[in-house]
Amino acid sequence: MIARGRQLWSRQARFAQADRPDALNCSPVTSAWPNPSAFALLNDLLVGIDEVLPQARALRRAIHADPYVGGFEQPTADLLGAALGRRTTSLAKTGFWTRLGPDGASVAVRSELDALPIAEQTGVSWASTNGAMHACGHDVHMAAVWAVLKAAERVELPTGLVGIFQPREECQPSGAPDVLDSGLLEQQDVRSVIGAHVQPRVPEGLVSSGIGGVNAAADAFDIVVRGHGGHGAYPHVTIDPVPVLATIASGLYELVGRLIDPTHAALISIGRIEAGAAHNIIPDSAMLQGIVRTMHESDRRLLHQEVRRFAEHTAAARGAVAEVTMLRGDPVLANDHGLVVAVDPLLHAAGLPVAEEPFRSLGADDFSHFGQRVPIVMMFVGTGEEADSRHDIGLHHAKFLPQDHTIRTVAAALAAGYVAGAHLAGAI
Ligand SMILES: [Zn+2]
Repeated sequence: MIARGRQLWSRQARFAQADRPDALNCSPVTSAWPNPSAFALLNDLLVGIDEVLPQARALRRAIHADPYVGGFEQPTADLLGAALGRRTTSLAKTGFWTRLGPDGASVAVRSELDALPIAEQTGVSWASTNGAMHACGHDVHMAAVWAVLKAAERVELPTGLVGIFQPREECQPSGAPDVLDSGLLEQQDVRSVIGAHVQPRVPEGLVSSGIGGVNAAADAFDIVVRGHGGHGAYPHVTIDPVPVLATIASGLYELVGRLIDPTHAALISIGRIEAGAAHNIIPDSAMLQGIVRTMHESDRRLLHQEVRRFAEHTAAARGAVAEVTMLRGDPVLANDHGLVVAVDPLLHAAGLPVAEEPFRSLGADDFSHFGQRVPIVMMFVGTGEEADSRHDIGLHHAKFLPQDHTIRTVAAALAAGYVAGAHLAGAI
């Protein structure tokens, strides 16, 4: 095993050293890192991953064919647990965790378990037919974490490896805060948590890490405008909430551009507007729902305050009342500086070129909650062909289907993350 591992390693090392294009990211790599122990460990994990890939592919397809939305993932958890064939402990109701390696400090790798309420349109023979779909690549992530754990069983690990299969990433209340509340990180002395997510906006073949914020703080709001209804032909004896709501809606789109430092990313989007029941009846009330995404805590606070102020004062100016409810969601997903600096050269060494320009978006992932407790890194694994197209098939699309070989890329990235985490924990 070890001898074979070294052989493969030398091929990858040659790639990393001789064939690395200039365009690739050259992170601050000191001569001391990656050290020989890190090279050997990563290499052995990669060899192990390659050995279990056929089973990982079959597992991915089985999971994909029978998906479950958040809160109902138990059959998926059972399938994974059986395929792992080792002791697991339930977590956050429908999730579970398992641990390998020595006692003491550990590094966790995390996968989501849940699917989306989307009717699949991929047309593959292993497509889901139950009305749910793994349209966010979580099937790939599960198979990849499984492969890393199976590979790690055959390797002498320098520090503990905790596999976290987390439920309810896509829905509220989301699963990551429940994992934190369970005390798992403290009980298992988890020093860092590693995540990877397929990303069609990153070109195929690249992996993106990036120091600092890579996903946004994700909050939502409800605004209900209350007026006084009546006949559509007698608006002068009503307080019509519809134009009030329309003014609030159009004004909300201007807030970011006028209140937020233009060098900061932030957005407000409205996803739902509802009022009335007939052509000729002015309703008593009207409502809208939307989201606020920010990358800075100060911007987050400001927009919460100003959405409320703008809605309340606009309604008051027309004699109506606006009730505003802000719903606080995930924090900014901020990649740890030390983990990124450690993982980037390992990704290169594993034959995974790192994107020169880190991928950052105002998307959100509840993986960010782990970062409130320990250092984290989320790596985006490119599956995209036309990263600039406005009509591409992206995450949450009924035709989104990463290729099977993505399992290997995600697994290799997670393995590199584990090695980086072990380094940060002082184990190598
Ligand atoms: Zn996802």
